[in-house]
Amino acid sequence: MMETMLEVKNLNKYFTKKVGFFGGKQQVVKAVDNVNLKIKKGETLGLVGESGCGKTTTGRTIARIYDPTAGNIIFRGQDIAKLSQKEIKPIRKCMQMIFQDPYASLNPRMTISEIIRTPLDVHNLYTKEERKEKVKELLNIVGFNSEHGNRYPHELSGGQRQRVGIARALAVEPEFIICDEPISALDVSIQAQIINTLEDLKNTLNLTYLFIAHDLSMVKHISDNIGVMYLGNIVETAGSDELYKNPVHPYTQTLLSAIPLPDPRKAKERKRIMLEGEVPSPINPPTGCKFHTRCKYAEKVCSEIAPELKDCGNNHRVACHLINKI
Ligand code: SF4
Repeated sequence: MMETMLEVKNLNKYFTKKVGFFGGKQQVVKAVDNVNLKIKKGETLGLVGESGCGKTTTGRTIARIYDPTAGNIIFRGQDIAKLSQKEIKPIRKCMQMIFQDPYASLNPRMTISEIIRTPLDVHNLYTKEERKEKVKELLNIVGFNSEHGNRYPHELSGGQRQRVGIARALAVEPEFIICDEPISALDVSIQAQIINTLEDLKNTLNLTYLFIAHDLSMVKHISDNIGVMYLGNIVETAGSDELYKNPVHPYTQTLLSAIPLPDPRKAKERKRIMLEGEVPSPINPPTGCKFHTRCKYAEKVCSEIAPELKDCGNNHRVACHLINKI
């Protein structure tokens, strides 16, 4: 049986916001609300949902960039949810992050070699000479030559900058990487290249990924399992093929219906499901099922009781009261 790399149990991340004329009142934003997920070693879990659904906050809380409000983050058997920033430092060597905006995440005053070398300096790994060699090796892994190392981020294209982000994440030889929308800021033609690079690296270096995205078509290509998030909750999880063949939650069905199909005949036959209304505010989310204000199947129970994730066989779990009616 494959070893579990990461298990997240009942994870909450709430932010408080001061409101009112004198800032005397507080509002709570429930960005991540009771999230559970599991990733086995060598697997990729895709986490998808609209902007603002809490997927990036989930990734950043797992990486302990944010402190969780409650819950457990069990990484390689150790609960890291309550570790101090000092205690978490050795864990960071095993768990790295690739960020969404490749330009904003790179220091414009540093050369590419310096950027890639930074994690080695922070973790005090290798001698000075060995670090130079390591940087060359990393440049090579992501398809650069050593000359690229002397350039600055503004001298590279978007796709090349994201390759620098990947090389920097790989520098400390992590086992687990959180890829936070690594392709959404890139041109479509470059997106496939970055996905292929990530897949190749996963296979050669035996990596495990949490791959966060809002584009379900790209997620299918790279993921073994997929979790769908809506307003801070996971509403459906399944194996990648199973989710695409048999989406059960009305929200997942809507997301899948929006994927462009390459075959014009099939595209013409397919009906796109349009959602009514706006995404509700996470400050004041709807009661019961948070999706009930936009769901065409909603019944009375949906606005009263929050549905739990239930197993419907084939490793497929759905949070919906009307699984058998939809
Ligand atoms: Fe729709 Fe009700 Fe299911 Fe929520 S629980 S997705 S509102 S049918």
